[in-house]
Amino acid sequence: MEQDIRQAYATTEPAGGLRVHLITFGCQMNEYDTHLVRSELAGLGASFVETTEEANFVLVNTCAVRGKPVEKLRSLLGELRKQKHRQPLLVGVMGCVAQLPEGQDMARKFEVDILLGPGALTQIGRAIEADHKFWDLSFRDDLNTFTPPPPQGVLSSFVSIIRGCNHHCTYCIVPRTRGPEISRHPDDILKEVQAQKDAGVLEVTLLGQNVNSYGKGRSGYPSFAELLKLVGQIGVNRIKFITSHPVNFTDDIVRAIAETPQVARYVHLPVQSGSDRVLKRMAREYTRDWYLNRIQAIRASISEVVISTDIIVGFPGETEEDFQETLSLYEQVGYDHSYMFIYSPRPGTPSYLHFEDLPREIKVERLQRLIETQKRWSYERNRAWVGRTVEVLVHGRAKETGYAEGHDRGNRPILLPVNEAPKPGLYTAIVKQATPHLLLAERHTTLEPIGSQA
Ligand code: SAM
Ligand code: SF4
Repeated sequence: MEQDIRQAYATTEPAGGLRVHLITFGCQMNEYDTHLVRSELAGLGASFVETTEEANFVLVNTCAVRGKPVEKLRSLLGELRKQKHRQPLLVGVMGCVAQLPEGQDMARKFEVDILLGPGALTQIGRAIEADHKFWDLSFRDDLNTFTPPPPQGVLSSFVSIIRGCNHHCTYCIVPRTRGPEISRHPDDILKEVQAQKDAGVLEVTLLGQNVNSYGKGRSGYPSFAELLKLVGQIGVNRIKFITSHPVNFTDDIVRAIAETPQVARYVHLPVQSGSDRVLKRMAREYTRDWYLNRIQAIRASISEVVISTDIIVGFPGETEEDFQETLSLYEQVGYDHSYMFIYSPRPGTPSYLHFEDLPREIKVERLQRLIETQKRWSYERNRAWVGRTVEVLVHGRAKETGYAEGHDRGNRPILLPVNEAPKPGLYTAIVKQATPHLLLAERHTTLEPIGSQA
């Protein structure tokens, strides 16, 4: 049956008969990679559909950072295999899980036709033209020079600036799945940002596992701080970046944020734990004091900066005293918000191989306490904005009826009455009310009309 679909698209227009359903698990980097593959498929004449039932090609971009998305993938592939037995269907898996032995076992078990590692995405065209199962797990240079066309009809978008990771955090699967760091050429980055701006994008997020390492070891490349300034000159309304590693968050980066008005006053600086003992077992390469010194430098130079973090609760060997250190770090920093994860043992990582996992009840109970702490701080930080004017980038309607949703330059979620912000675009608004999770605001003026905005 697989053969029938492959034959359905003629050689002159290889993907002409393909109806593709794309599914993305995971981070913003994966969203960007899905866009990249989508643009390749569109160039080959494929069309895109919203459900697996309408599709004759289902392609899943996967995430291996925690166990949950991997399990979700397993059950999805089980469903797709059943569908494959009822009707002609190509199934492809790309991204981090494809790179791992567990992904390759799944591919065999669930009759997956195409398997592309995160370094081989440019091979999608060859993969669908092949008349056999197609696996490519190599890290290809052409990925780094590939510039996808700007997405259409969106106000916020991503640009990849560096792929891979040279760190070796003991819990993390990323260095295995995404390989060593490779910075993109600055000309390609600037061209892509310019093209996105020309297409109407108002907010660009620069992406990488460690954006601060940008340019290291590449002669003639700017540093990350210099790149921020160069991107700033293009004149996109907002520039954000994720993710930063505290050990590379140098003073020149702090200055570049402070001195470049287009760069949002928002820093996401993952700490992972407040305990030096745990940080050492995680191989994070910094101490609590180092991290706090970076926070101090950021707060001293960037007024009204919004700071968020990532944290792993219940790392193997984390004692109640270690966890208290994390709680006290939260009190010291007062994060605006944070992404809080329960430790998930990932096969093949050093912590999986050498450390014993804590009982789930302990991990869950600690996470609950941390969530409460964060909630209190988020409310505290959000409350300080009541009565003030904020710039809101409205994306669309919120689930709550009667509201449009967007976020401000600090990435805080904001709701506006939908009749006051009827179309996506930039508005200024006055904050009327705060909750721990969002701000409720009323429109003040329209900053910049977008399309048919009122
Ligand atoms: N490079 C970034 C850094 O070092 O901060 C983070 C990238 S990682 C893909 C995103 C987040 O996932 C990490 O900051 C960490 O909090 C979380 N994470 C990674 N491995 C994890 C694991 N095994 N269990 C739970 N959370 C994990
Ligand atoms: Fe993973 Fe650490 Fe690299 Fe971040 S810095 S991607 S947590 S290994």
